[in-house]
Amino acid sequence: MKLAIACPVCTLERMTKNPSAGYSPNHIKVPLQDDNVYALTCSQGHESLIILRNPKCEWLFESGILALKDGYYREAVTSFAASLERFYEYLITALTITERKADPEGFQRVWKSMVNQSERQIGAVNFLFFKCLGKPMSSLDKAFLDTHGLSLGKREPVNFRNVVVHQGFIPDRQAAIHYGEAIYKYIRQVLTGISSITLWKQNLLEATNLALEKSRDAFGKVATSVQTESFFLDTTSCILSTDSGPSFGGVLFAPERSLIEYMGE
Ligand SMILES: [Zn+2]
Repeated sequence: MKLAIACPVCTLERMTKNPSAGYSPNHIKVPLQDDNVYALTCSQGHESLIILRNPKCEWLFESGILALKDGYYREAVTSFAASLERFYEYLITALTITERKADPEGFQRVWKSMVNQSERQIGAVNFLFFKCLGKPMSSLDKAFLDTHGLSLGKREPVNFRNVVVHQGFIPDRQAAIHYGEAIYKYIRQVLTGISSITLWKQNLLEATNLALEKSRDAFGKVATSVQTESFFLDTTSCILSTDSGPSFGGVLFAPERSLIEYMGE
């Protein structure tokens, strides 16, 4: 999976010299990286350092979409499942932001106790959601699938994920699509509920910023001639957007967006 990131220097030059020509990006194609930091050199020799602000769960979901489009159904399911787990981490960060800021080391100790155990993280996020929002978080279960007309055969989402990830089960196209669609709808539903409350909407934004703290250190280590920028890339799914957004089918068959392209190796 590769991203196409526009050189910010070329973009500025082209907009300045010929504004009537509109947006004319000079893309640099780079493999997706874990730390969200991209050191780029464009075809004109401009050096830039870009931090992409999209949370990890968003990249993993995009990876699942790409795998689905390419016919790698097992890989699609594992990416969607990883996206959901990172979404829970994102929520845990947002729902504990005040405590985390007051005692960062304490937070790390608690997080360390569950970092490798996804079931513990689900338990934690459910209780935090209940405490912070005063109602239970909806569940991604058989009832959720039924409500949205989705089916994973006789399996519930958790069991489906487990047999794919741990037992090498190879799902068919329809099950992979339904699993991706279930996670897509679930994440957007949970986010929409949280974002309707101003305090928690603000904390979600802070959680995004917090995840970038380490990445920002990279900015301080480059020469002044290197252009530095930090922005969100407009992904195909926009899974973390709380706008009504496209349907999952619309996402799956959407053409690539202007700022991002996906290519197999
Ligand atoms: Zn350039």
